[in-house]
Amino acid sequence: MEKMVYGFTRDTGRIKTVSCLRNIMSPNPEITTYIKSLYPHRSPVLLHCPEFMGNEKKYLAECIDTKYVSYVGRFVADMENKIKAITGAKHAVALVNGTAALHMLLLAAGITNGDEVITQTLSFAATAAAIMHAGATPVFVDVERETLGMSPDSLRSFLAEHATLKSGACVNRVSGKPIKAVIPMHTFGHPVRIDAIQKICDDYSLLLIEDAAESLGSRYRGTHTGTFGKAAILSFNGNKLVTTGGGGMVITDDEAIANRVRYISTTAKRPHRWEFYHDEVGYNLRMPSVNAAIGLAQLEYLNTILSNKRKTSWLYNQFFHTLGIKYITEPENAKSNYWLNAIIFNNRKERDEFLEYSNANGVQTRPAWNLLHTLPPYQYCQCTPTPNAEYFADCLVNIPSSVRT
Ligand SMILES: *Cc1c(COP(=O)(O)O)cnc(C)c1O
Repeated sequence: MEKMVYGFTRDTGRIKTVSCLRNIMSPNPEITTYIKSLYPHRSPVLLHCPEFMGNEKKYLAECIDTKYVSYVGRFVADMENKIKAITGAKHAVALVNGTAALHMLLLAAGITNGDEVITQTLSFAATAAAIMHAGATPVFVDVERETLGMSPDSLRSFLAEHATLKSGACVNRVSGKPIKAVIPMHTFGHPVRIDAIQKICDDYSLLLIEDAAESLGSRYRGTHTGTFGKAAILSFNGNKLVTTGGGGMVITDDEAIANRVRYISTTAKRPHRWEFYHDEVGYNLRMPSVNAAIGLAQLEYLNTILSNKRKTSWLYNQFFHTLGIKYITEPENAKSNYWLNAIIFNNRKERDEFLEYSNANGVQTRPAWNLLHTLPPYQYCQCTPTPNAEYFADCLVNIPSSVRT
């Protein structure tokens, strides 16, 4: 048993000594030391730091040499095509960031003033902000313990209690407003039970839109996240699995939605050789070529990134198993990209002690987000009971997860 337990830490002898004391001492120094051993060249060890290991500089030089630095030029189209090949989506439209991508997608999908959109309360602020940008109001449901993503049970019980179908449209009996869409989010890269959520959306005539900002490379029953619903967004922010500096993308099989996103985000200009004719109030939110150049270079070695992160998750899993601390692993039927690794403490006090200790000792760690329904802009939004989300908000800590070089 001892042999098996320590086999994987042969390069970090210190841990063995410390671990003898673990029953009488806090595990925090041991965890922090172990994380440092995984990232020996980093000080401090950041939560998620980009690594550039391919053609990034070469492609950036090409942008400058060719003078194609705006969204004109080969890189935006090449990156969109690469994402289509990776995800299997028929269409992809690159935008300045994931928040803008979700905003544009909601508009293109027909979400408008006075509509309601259901999402999960455990998510990054962008999910709810984009719903508000589109003029709609979020309604929040709980997440599941197994996936950390939207709970199909919470969604169904909310709809059973509060929604009615009026001539094919779903209406919220409490607010009187139409409920138009459901946005589950694949938390930290772990796929939600998307088939169960899809079924509920079908039953209630709701549009399924996936916030796949964190789940590039993650698959559910072999199919890439973001390709189950009507459409999805990806993010290429600096801390995501693959980065363009800042960037996002809409992916969809629906040609009309893709065309509409491209059109409204490119100033709503009708194509013409020289005339400026804009027949609507447009936005200017396309991804510039310099960003796409970095993204394309990163996507060329996506498989290396994914296997590197899978290895790290395996090491973490073994390590936390021996410590008796719960480490989040990929859900059933899913292959996760392990974008951000997470561990669970017994309570908020132990969590806070670890956050204090690790951040003071050169290892960046973060709690889960404050739940969206507790934040000032959303405190008046409708929300189901959220025991699971509260559990994660109290006890979960994200630990360093960068690609190891
Ligand atoms: C990162 C992220 C987004 C989009 O963020 P941007 O920084 O605008 O690219 C949206 N939703 C979630 C859940 C995210 O993590």
